[in-house]
Amino acid sequence: MNKDKHLTKEWKRKIGEANKIALKGRRLSLKTRERMSESKIGHKHSEKTKIKIGNSRKGIKHTNKAKKKISIARIGKKLSKKTKIKIGNAHRGMKRPKGTGKKISKALKGRKKPEGFGKKISKIQIGRTVSLEIKNLMSKIMKKSARRGKTHPFWKGGVTPINLKIRKCRETIIWKQSVLIRDDYTCQKCSKKENIELHPHHIKNFSDYPELRFAIDNGITFCKKCHNTFHKIYGYRNNTMEQVKNFIGGKYD
Ligand SMILES: [Zn+2]
Repeated sequence: MNKDKHLTKEWKRKIGEANKIALKGRRLSLKTRERMSESKIGHKHSEKTKIKIGNSRKGIKHTNKAKKKISIARIGKKLSKKTKIKIGNAHRGMKRPKGTGKKISKALKGRKKPEGFGKKISKIQIGRTVSLEIKNLMSKIMKKSARRGKTHPFWKGGVTPINLKIRKCRETIIWKQSVLIRDDYTCQKCSKKENIELHPHHIKNFSDYPELRFAIDNGITFCKKCHNTFHKIYGYRNNTMEQVKNFIGGKYD
């Protein structure tokens, strides 16, 4: 399995030299960058350095690509209370760009509010008066979204399996994108890349391992054909990394 075993020390040294030359001026691979950032875990910038970094970045905007990367990297991460307060202070008095409200409501659709959320909001609202305009708008929205019959939460006639709902949600879309990007949009079984339908596959299967549903490491890119073949051989339950390794010939780590 390990090709390196057959290489002599001399060979390895030569390859290392060649890589050094080839890598000069090149962008580092995602894996390398991950390793580098891992080695920085626990390393903290001094306050002075932070101010310097902040000043040098002032006025620079992230590109859309960078924003996407940052949002992928942030999946599952929670902000500390301190950070939240800082962000809140920085945003005070700022107006949101047009369309932000819509974006937020789209992203929040289907999410449950944390316990006690309603109480918190009603506490904040105490003493505030709602303008007539807002009142009318609210009543319009309420009428529009009035849940009767099919849309009532107790309606059981058209039960959507909860797993199906989760599959469709935002996290799943981001998970798929991340797996595809990491695998360079290439089927890891047949190495095909062009003109094929790609299916990010859950290594430990979706239904048995809910905690790994959005773990990038738990995903691998297959084409439609190879994905079907995989499940024909191994089924849809209790899927493992061993199966994937056997399936693709041990090339995966
Ligand atoms: Zn394939």
